[in-house]
Amino acid sequence: MEYPPPPYRIKMVEPIRLLDAQSRLSRMKEAHWNLFNLNAQDIYLDFLTDSGTGAMTQEQWAAMMTGDESYANARSFRRFESAVREFTGLPEVIPTHQGRAAENILLPSVLGEGKYVVSNQSFDTTVGHILFNGKEPMDIVIDEGLDPSTDYPFKGNMNLEKLRGALEGENVALVTLVLTNNAGGGQPVSIENIQRVSEITKEYGIPFFLDIARIVENSYFVQQRELPEMSIRDIVRRTCQLADGVWMSAKKDAYVNIGGFIALKDKEGADRMRERLVLFEGFPSYGGLAGRDLEAIATGLEQVISDERIVEHRIKQVEYLHSKLSEIGVPLVKPPGGHAIFIDAKSMLPHIPPEEFPGQALACQLYIEGGIRSVEIGSLMFGREENGKFVPANMELVRLAIPRRVYEQGHFDYVVAIMKRLLEKKDEIRGMRIVKEPELLRHFTCTLDVIE
Ligand SMILES: *Cc1c(COP(=O)(O)O)cnc(C)c1O
Repeated sequence: MEYPPPPYRIKMVEPIRLLDAQSRLSRMKEAHWNLFNLNAQDIYLDFLTDSGTGAMTQEQWAAMMTGDESYANARSFRRFESAVREFTGLPEVIPTHQGRAAENILLPSVLGEGKYVVSNQSFDTTVGHILFNGKEPMDIVIDEGLDPSTDYPFKGNMNLEKLRGALEGENVALVTLVLTNNAGGGQPVSIENIQRVSEITKEYGIPFFLDIARIVENSYFVQQRELPEMSIRDIVRRTCQLADGVWMSAKKDAYVNIGGFIALKDKEGADRMRERLVLFEGFPSYGGLAGRDLEAIATGLEQVISDERIVEHRIKQVEYLHSKLSEIGVPLVKPPGGHAIFIDAKSMLPHIPPEEFPGQALACQLYIEGGIRSVEIGSLMFGREENGKFVPANMELVRLAIPRRVYEQGHFDYVVAIMKRLLEKKDEIRGMRIVKEPELLRHFTCTLDVIE
């Protein structure tokens, strides 16, 4: 496929440097083979995450200069509030400093009696907050969503039969849908599925909220695959209307570096949340953000639904990298999602068993070969020991998350060239072992070594 022409040009640049091969190897050793330990300045291309790593427009930067930093009911808050209302169609707006802060305010206010928070696939910060509130996550994405080789158009959909089953058991505290399904490869959820979940939760009287970090990307896929006549603006609004409310990490589809919000229909519920907000975030008109941040988010939200080429270009960039890597024979999760590429390390490195972390081995080699940072999503992140026996993750993946408006064709072609070199010497890549690990979330801080 051809590279999509960008709907912008560049007038500010951030220099980046590629260390020589020897320095890259020694930095990797100094980082104990954990990419989270590398210094960002030693990385040439950083695909660790698309969260808060994007570039803003001149209008967003200009709006920041006009931020009203008054403590209560600043002009910037009123502008933010009306931008979020316009975006979601929901009346009650609560700013937070990022997505997980919204979870901290929202969950205790809406959780019912039951034990489970049912979702297509809760994101890891959400899982943390669910557990912290004494509940348990129950992920019921459709079977297609767990199979890396199928091309099903809405692999983020929820399994409706399982939803009914869970609700019949009368043990559900809340139902959510993540759009797109981040933990499941950025795969979209159809409007039809959201509509059905909405109807079923109403029937049982259970609250239903949407995690809309990537709702613009989800709406783009809905437009392409389900509702070609509708604008992305209208699809976003229609989606939000189907739930009791939404929460958003603005670090994704609002195209800013920090921020988030909750929006909902119920005024009483919102006022309960505002009480918690004052305790944990700040006064209800700023919620942990500066006036200038509120301005940047407002402008970002307005722009991304006014010009559909913004999200179209982003998703085509992801498709471009996916198609070029496929062409040279890199095994990938199909189809490409909204924000990232997932390499199937298990099939690329069949000589490395899951207990020797093929994903981590590949991610480290990507850095050593080309100064590229990615992240393992496999047995290092999700594997565990049970009765002294190793239990692997479902899949051994390496994720390249694409920051918004940051990299261009030359960068992507460079990734393809580096992967080509790695394919040629893949049989020499060795497995890894953990040297030291903490008790929880080990992938962030563990140290590793290469198995000789
Ligand atoms: C990033 C993200 C969050 C958490 O947001 P932060 O801004 O990182 O706190 C929650 N849900 C999803 C789907 C996300 O992608």
